[in-house]
Amino acid sequence: MPHDDPDHPHALLPPEPALRVKALETILTRKGLIDPAALDEITDTYQNRIGPQNGADVVARAWSDPGFRTALLRDADAVVTDLGYYGRQGEHIVVVENTPDIHNMVVCTLCSCYPWPLLGIPPAWYKSDAYRARAVREPRKVLADFGVTLPAATAVRVWDSTAEIRYLVLPMRPEGSEGMDVAQLARLVTRDSMIGTGLPGLAP
Ligand code: FE
Repeated sequence: MPHDDPDHPHALLPPEPALRVKALETILTRKGLIDPAALDEITDTYQNRIGPQNGADVVARAWSDPGFRTALLRDADAVVTDLGYYGRQGEHIVVVENTPDIHNMVVCTLCSCYPWPLLGIPPAWYKSDAYRARAVREPRKVLADFGVTLPAATAVRVWDSTAEIRYLVLPMRPEGSEGMDVAQLARLVTRDSMIGTGLPGLAP
């Protein structure tokens, strides 16, 4: 039976994805299968409460407080859980620190594993076949595509995320940021700088 057949059940749903979702939500709510308040809560969480601002806060604290930095590198799970940054896709987070000698970059070659509680939902490019294949094979070229050029003496280390381990890059604190507090520092930390495909920067 073709999908454009008016007798086919699919034809009863509106064509636009947003309307289809709404129709589905209405049906499930009427049947008592879902609670709209719970759905609103989930939407609010992913739109407003989880995102790169959480990771940026962690990085800014690590730049400001050597004790925090040491604890974060030793046991990131405990530290970020203490800050309330935990939830789905946040299992076992490992923080890897950039230095003048080593630049870290994160990929998931199998799929798109990513530390959601710290960075939010992964960008489309992170999930792309091109990034997943090239990050391992030619990381410096990928970095160049992102506008990142590293000194020749800096080695690039690529970390392959899995369902068990999600990596977060701790970028180097930018020059000129001396004297900034945690909130000011956090504004320098971009999402990409915590994936390793970008560098933090001073705000214009
Ligand atoms: Fe994955």
